[in-house]
Order: sequence, then C-alpha cells, then structure tokens
Amino acid sequence: MVNHEVKPLAAGLYFVATPIGTARDITLRALDILASADVIAAEDTRSMKRLLEIHGVPLGTRPVIAYHDHNGDKVRPRLMAYLAEGKSVAYASEAGTPLIADPGYDLGKIAREEGVLVTAAPGPSAVIDAMTIAGLPTDRFMFAGFLPNAKNARRNALAELGDIPATLVFYESPKRVEAMLQDAADILGATREAAVCRELTKKFEECVNGTLETLVAEFSERSVKGEIVVLITRRAEGASDEFDTEAELRKALESMSVRDASDVVSKASGQPKRKIYQLALALDKERKG
Ligand code: SAM
Repeated sequence: MVNHEVKPLAAGLYFVATPIGTARDITLRALDILASADVIAAEDTRSMKRLLEIHGVPLGTRPVIAYHDHNGDKVRPRLMAYLAEGKSVAYASEAGTPLIADPGYDLGKIAREEGVLVTAAPGPSAVIDAMTIAGLPTDRFMFAGFLPNAKNARRNALAELGDIPATLVFYESPKRVEAMLQDAADILGATREAAVCRELTKKFEECVNGTLETLVAEFSERSVKGEIVVLITRRAEGASDEFDTEAELRKALESMSVRDASDVVSKASGQPKRKIYQLALALDKERKG
C-alpha cells in the first residue's frame, strides 16, 4: 500500500516531524512532503533513509544532505542556495519535531528573514506526548529542555524555574535522571508532584507518577534505560511561605560553597540574596564548629 502522493510543492522550507519511537507515527502529509521535496536535509541521513524505506517513499536521485549542530554554519548556505533557486527543501531532525531540543532554529530564522516560505508538517514531540499522558495540569506548561549537566548549574537552573506557575517539562538522560530528581527534590521541595515518562510510543513505555521524594526512591533502585521526559507540577499556592530556608541552606552547604548555596536558596525561596548569604555564613561557621 502506498501512503504518499508525489505532488508539486511550492518553493520553501518544510520542517517535518518524524516518529519518536513507533515508525508509523508519521502523518500522511509528512510522507507527501518527503516524497515530493526537491531536496531532503536531515540531522541523521541514515535514519532518514531508513524512514523513507519503511514507508516506501522513493528517494530517486534527490540529494539527502546532513544538517546538524556541528556542520550547520557550513551547510546552511548550501540549503539557502537551493531555496533561493526556488527549490523545496524538507528538513527533519533525528526524531520528533525539529527545533524542539533539536537543530533547525538558525535555518528557519534565516529562511524567514530572506522571505522564504517556512512551514511545517507537525507531528510527534516527546514534550507533548508526555504532557498528554502524565496526568499533571496541562493548562500552562514550561518546556525547559535539557538541564545543565553540572550539579551546581543544574540546581541554579531549577531554582530559577521553581516559582513559574506552570507544569515544568524537562528532557533528561537515563544516566542523570536520579541526580536530577534529587536536585529537584532539594530545590523545589520533596513533596511536589512529578512524573517520569520513559520510552514513549515504544514497547516499554511507562509513566511513573509520585512526589519528587518517592520518585528519587524509585529511580535510585532501578537501572534506567531509554529516553526520558520529567514533568514537575507547579508550586502549590502559598507553599513558598512554608519554605524551610534554614533546612534548605544546611542541605545545600553539604555540597556547595557558601556563595553558591546562598544563590540557589535565595532563588528558590524568593528571599534577598544578602539576607540568605548572612544566614549561610552563620550556618557554615556552626557546621565547621
Ligand atoms: N525533537 C525531539 C522532540 O520533539 O521531542 C526531541 C529531541 S531531543 C535531542 C531527545 C530527547 O527527547 C531525549 O533525550 C528524551 O529526553 C526526549 N525523547 C525523545 N523521544 C522520546 C521518547 N520516545 N520517550 C521519552 N522521551 C523522549
């Protein structure tokens, strides 16, 4: 069965969303665009060729050009030249929606600035899939992508996001998920509701709900594999009043300098840096006896 139609496409840049697991999660329009574009560009040309093969989309003599974070500056002029000649260019990242924690931003921005048609064949994205199934409030959400790898930078980033009145959504690697949940419990509060969604649309899909504290316990006992989205619900109204500044500072001082600990806790509590720094100095002195 052929699911695609080859039809003339207007000149322009077509961002195409591709599956995040199950290969059949691709729209008919995405297949039409991939079958019809003059030029295909992809973050990973091998994955793209495999996808075309699975769906019986013939490539013919059309070029498949690699475009990713490491060669973007070099390859973009070539793609822009095709667009300037009036060609249609389809771009897909390795999985999911391009630009969403994936390459494509610079290409789209410059194409728009040059007056080129920029459009998309929307489809899968792990952030939307996770929001859909996790059972946390969906009226407002803040997609924060990947947190920094370094512990202090990660804790600072969490502190900055902590008071945003929206469900927070993060992409995370299985290697770091336990440490990330622990930092989130320390900085945002152990009792915040959260969810870990893993392997979405794949055979071992799961979504584990709990407080940050219970999720830390669960994920410290498991060896975790696969792809992960972490969601954390917003701070309960009035909860910042219950923030135990002293306890948070003591915990932070176990792994951080006085300056870093006061930075993180002042952001998390919304209290002035100076005041928190003075308290941190006193606690540190007491700690060191
Ligand atoms: N552009 C993609 C999108 O629209 O979701 C995201 C690309 S980003 C480089 C890859 C990260 O997305 C993974 O590390 C994981 O956090 C998340 N992700 C992608 N596929 C997933 C899946 N099937 N299940 C859970 N998380 C997934």
